[in-house]
Amino acid sequence: MPRCTCCGKVITPDETGSAKFPCPNCGQITITRCEKCRIFGRLYTCPACGFRGP
Ligand SMILES: [Zn+2]
Ligand SMILES: [Zn+2]
Repeated sequence: MPRCTCCGKVITPDETGSAKFPCPNCGQITITRCEKCRIFGRLYTCPACGFRGP
């Protein structure tokens, strides 16, 4: 199960509004954000390179 990179919430496959994208800095990690974190624009931290972004 993928987890939200911001809050650690498990993202179910049927959850709409979640976002998945590769880390814009290193591209090695897929950043996953749940709908709430995406809406509120919470910062994520890449576990591989430590990049922080909105
Ligand atoms: Zn979240
Ligand atoms: Zn990264």
